[in-house]
Amino acid sequence: MVVVHGGAGSLGEELREHGAACRDALRTALESAAAVLEVGQDAVEAVRSAVSVLESFPLFNAGHGSALCADGTVEMSAALMRGSDRAAGAVAVVTRTEHPIFAAHALLDARQVLMVGEPADACAAANGAQQREPGHFVTDRQLQRLQEPAGNAEGGHGTVGAVCLDSNGLLAAATSTGGLVGQRPGRVGDTPLIGAGTWADRHVAVSCTGDGEAFIRVGAARLLAFLVEHGATLDAAARAALDDVERCRGGGGLIAVDLRGDVAMPFSTEAMPRGVWRLGEEPTLDLS
Ligand code: ASP
Repeated sequence: MVVVHGGAGSLGEELREHGAACRDALRTALESAAAVLEVGQDAVEAVRSAVSVLESFPLFNAGHGSALCADGTVEMSAALMRGSDRAAGAVAVVTRTEHPIFAAHALLDARQVLMVGEPADACAAANGAQQREPGHFVTDRQLQRLQEPAGNAEGGHGTVGAVCLDSNGLLAAATSTGGLVGQRPGRVGDTPLIGAGTWADRHVAVSCTGDGEAFIRVGAARLLAFLVEHGATLDAAARAALDDVERCRGGGGLIAVDLRGDVAMPFSTEAMPRGVWRLGEEPTLDLS
């Protein structure tokens, strides 16, 4: 079972215009995760693979095509967590690693959970992750978005994420983002913060998207997991976490899967492109 998202935000012109391409990207991400599982690799490899596909898709805000900081640069973040032992790897403010999720994955069994900036890129490179010039990540579309008036409804989101339950009962979650359009350089959102934007344990795997500051203040992903561990249904826990985000004046969404294979995908924004794949079934995709 694999679930992916392409970020919570508005159902803007762009999503309507490029709907087919967005669907293709979500489908390809699910197929790549499914292929990984089919050759016997685990949930960690599946979410890593799905997110790397979404990072390559320029219309989602992660990897190539990331949102730009106020000064026109790209600063990317990513996190990956394994449910069985709560091993986690995360990076923030990386500017050169082609697939930030590979940088996060490289830390999964390291001493450090979270690394930032140049040392994080260097560590990824030392682990074989492809490096690019920072300009590689900047697209015309994002340059244009940066110039649009602040608060433009299309301006916010597009983060990508994946959660997976594999046939051995292992849960894993991964999230990757370029952050918010026009963010202050050095600003870090919820995505790479374990327990805020990304979480996996023995009960549930969660990947969040939306107003990062609110998700951080709520500890949204961990809150959801805590509620599930203490008897809430996945659906109720997911709603409660998003309600608390709203109380902190934040909007967004999340995807979550539990040990029984139940899925929750609530969002409080207009749209959250998402897809689900279950063993032996065709993927289901939704853009609204
Ligand atoms: N949560 C991300 C951040 O605050 C943005 C998003 O999900 O689109 O950086």
